[in-house]
Amino acid sequence: MATSHVIIGDGIAGSSAAETIREADTDASVTVLTEEGEALYNRILIKEFAKGKLPEAPISIHSPDWYEERDIDLELNTHVVRVDTEAKTVHTHGGDTYDYDKLLVATGGTPTQLPVENSDADGVHHFWTFQDARAIKENAENADTGVVVGAGLLGIDLAAISAAQELDAHYLMRGQAWWRYALSEEGAEIIHDALRERNVTPVFGSGVDHFETDDDGHVVAAVDPNGERYEAEFAGVAIGLNFNTEWLRGSGVETDDGVLTDEHMRTNVEDVYAAGDITEFHDVLLGERAQNGAWGSAKEQGSIAGANMVGEWDEPEETFEWVSSYSITHFDFPFLSFGHPTLGDDSVEKKYSEDEWRRVALKDGRVIGGVLIGDLSPQSALKRLAREQVDLTGREEKLLEERIPVDDLVADSPEAQAE
Ligand SMILES: Cc1cc2nc3c(=O)[nH]c(=O)nc-3n(C[C@H](O)[C@H](O)[C@H](O)COP(=O)(O)OP(=O)(O)OC[C@H]3O[C@@H](n4cnc5c(N)ncnc54)[C@H](O)[C@@H]3O)c2cc1C
Repeated sequence: MATSHVIIGDGIAGSSAAETIREADTDASVTVLTEEGEALYNRILIKEFAKGKLPEAPISIHSPDWYEERDIDLELNTHVVRVDTEAKTVHTHGGDTYDYDKLLVATGGTPTQLPVENSDADGVHHFWTFQDARAIKENAENADTGVVVGAGLLGIDLAAISAAQELDAHYLMRGQAWWRYALSEEGAEIIHDALRERNVTPVFGSGVDHFETDDDGHVVAAVDPNGERYEAEFAGVAIGLNFNTEWLRGSGVETDDGVLTDEHMRTNVEDVYAAGDITEFHDVLLGERAQNGAWGSAKEQGSIAGANMVGEWDEPEETFEWVSSYSITHFDFPFLSFGHPTLGDDSVEKKYSEDEWRRVALKDGRVIGGVLIGDLSPQSALKRLAREQVDLTGREEKLLEERIPVDDLVADSPEAQAE
């Protein structure tokens, strides 16, 4: 009997798993269910579409033909509402039931709504899907003023869209710096300056208390907790993600914020795997549970899950061991964060010039993540040190040298010396 694989979510994690399963087992039945109305597209590029810099076509990754050619059953517009892990069935909003032998949870997250008055008004946008990007583009193209809320990696995309659409915009941040958990104020100031140059004004110690609307229910302004009013015909909100786990309620699959997995992408329930943004996986490099919100990581987890789904539950062959990275290309200088830049018990940082800065986060003397602005050339050395978990205790300052002496750092490590 052919094994039946059912995958929930056609993002990069779900789609990679489907491809891996099909390549490894030509007889398997593979079904992908997604609530979206379109097949896999490049979520990273939808911001370029919203800026007006890229047409729709190159953003699509797979057409429905791609699934047909591989004998993968893709069901669009299909919202999964429940799974019965004893009967091994998945249930959809339309009343359909799918039987599975192996199930993959790859449902990612949904942007958190700002819990303030009028946050559901026309012109207030949350950003995750291609549909969101179409609405953002249309609104921003017809607006003169904007606000952005959420001082993280998605917020900066909305700020960059505001800049590209030539809005007079304010970027309202709660703290004193953009992405204050990963950058110091000195590093963040490089980003603030780049925003100011593009007519996006950072406002610190701010946020949104409520939005004002016109008689048609369209946003016209944001008022911050200090009572300051910012005109905004466009508002972008990116204050975090809620992971799409509600359909797992009662299934026995263990969840916290996301779905808990081991390093083989297995959940606590036999034959149920998870991959992508939704996982809180055991990170073998970090030595603790972690979550990644990055395309490359989701793709790799999908492939690992797919490979293990084809094999035996008790003998997983593939392990997720990965230093993720996330780059930003909105400015004249490059920006890259890698690993877990917001975690750790120590860090070193240095400013090299007006737009060159580096910060490396460490845990127990080992590199676990960081942020590079201006010069990305140290990334391979830093990622290697993270992957190989080299003990750098007492040698942390070497990480700030223009060219990191990575071979020496590895050769001189206590582990290498002990061999
Ligand atoms: C605007 C934007 C810019 C980004 N830029 C970058 C970047 O530059 N670099 C980077 O590394 N990462 C970036 N990311 C993050 C990256 O896109 C994600 O980490 C990645 O797409 C996660 O993939 P995933 O497959 O885990 O989840 P998703 O892509 O979220 O896919 C999950 C899918 O499951 C579907 N689904 C959810 N619940 C159900 C249900 N109950 N039933 C059926 N289907 C369901 C969803 O509709 C969705 O299609 C960006 C994200 C956004 C939104």
